Amino acid sequence: MKKIVTLGEILVEIMTTKRGQGFRTPGYFVGPYPSGAPAIFIDQVAHLNYPCGIISCVGDDDFGHLNIDRLKNDGVDVSAIKVIGESTTGSAFVNYRLNGERDFIFNITNSACAHISLTAAGEKLLQECSHFHIMGSSLFSSGIIESVKMAVHSIKDRGGTISFDPNIRKEILQLNGITEAIDFILRNTDIFLPSGQEISLLTDTNNEDEAIKEILGVGVSEIILKRGSEGCSYFDKKQRLSMPAYMAEEIDPTGAGDCFGATFVTCRLMDMPVTDALRYANASGAIAVHKNGPMEGTSTFSELDEYLS
Ligand code: ATP
Ligand code: MG
Repeated sequence: MKKIVTLGEILVEIMTTKRGQGFRTPGYFVGPYPSGAPAIFIDQVAHLNYPCGIISCVGDDDFGHLNIDRLKNDGVDVSAIKVIGESTTGSAFVNYRLNGERDFIFNITNSACAHISLTAAGEKLLQECSHFHIMGSSLFSSGIIESVKMAVHSIKDRGGTISFDPNIRKEILQLNGITEAIDFILRNTDIFLPSGQEISLLTDTNNEDEAIKEILGVGVSEIILKRGSEGCSYFDKKQRLSMPAYMAEEIDPTGAGDCFGATFVTCRLMDMPVTDALRYANASGAIAVHKNGPMEGTSTFSELDEYLS
């Protein structure tokens, strides 16, 4: 069996308990919840009982240990999570507006996450893996971008595969060299998992069909466009498929895209046909939006099968 590795931020998430509460007046919060897009992704892979690991950094504090314990208990290889005594684990405060949009206050770039790099333990884990997943949210420093590029070369040189979810935040697009980095990643990507407008992030066109043609033209083999409550679409050189979302009450959408992507990638690495992988991924996203907490909506194959029946 193959093994999946990702590299990126591990955080705790603390959220307002009331919609529209905001951050400018005192209020009630719930958390800490384990979080970070790459961490949610890899936890979902582990729930599917597929070998996996993460390269990351946390502080030597309760927020860091809460995350390590959770990932380890769920079956993620945590050998390449470095614990840094003099740093604090990353965090995100989340507020849900009345219209469903979210506000975030992140502490990532000044947290232990700033130290993420390809350590000896990271190199060792990478050597055991044949698939590398990249989250755009992790590309927040030139150091991490360098590590990601090295990991891409290492996996590709050994005939492995890459998946990429742009999951991009506005601040990241301001970073020097980010366009070139995303372009490099895209050219090495096998499975591309944008959501909504991200499809045309780097293309010459804003037109969806033209953007898809352009991306398939640079060598990406499969594009899965996530469309939130509208479901998803799949494109490769031979076919395009669309699948509506399953009915789900949206309680907390954070992490749905990460669970969706992890389930799709894992199913494809297991050689499952595209339609089955899409069905499982859609179910994985629907289950995730129904649960409060970013990593609380991960599911096993038996939970997905039960949901689908
Ligand atoms: P995020 O980055 O916030 O985790 P995303 O933008 O990457 O999310 P979405 O398109 O919001 O990803 O969601 C991913 C998938 O989850 C969708 O393609 C769909 O299958 C499922 N999903 C999302 N929202 C809903 C919903 N309201 N009802 C049912 N399924 C949903
Ligand atoms: Mg996303």
